[in-house]
Amino acid sequence: MRALVGDWSTVIHGEAVKLGGVPVRQCEACGERRIVARDAMRHEQRAFDVYRARHELMTPSQLRALRRRRALAREDLARMLDVTVEQIDRWEGGRYVHSAAIDTVLCMVRDLPGALAYLRERTD
Ligand SMILES: [Zn+2]
Repeated sequence: MRALVGDWSTVIHGEAVKLGGVPVRQCEACGERRIVARDAMRHEQRAFDVYRARHELMTPSQLRALRRRRALAREDLARMLDVTVEQIDRWEGGRYVHSAAIDTVLCMVRDLPGALAYLRERTD
């Protein structure tokens, strides 16, 4: 494995996100690049930021604020979005990024009167 600083790409919700300036180790046989472990989290965060900016997604703090403003338990939101409570935790803690499709539903909850009642009824 050769160490170098270069482009690295990952896939987030089916989309390629490419970053430059990432310390990687590259396999000399097949060219596969692996991110250097101690830097992985920082560059994953950068990849989330790129995906978030590309789709103009809510930030983790905006997501937490929305849930509190609507007095929604994590369990309730998880059920409405058909995801796990752990996923909600990861989105709110910035350890992963929610998809553009999920963001559309969250924006409806934020902006559209009746959307929350609809989702509650649908998932009761
Ligand atoms: Zn290889």
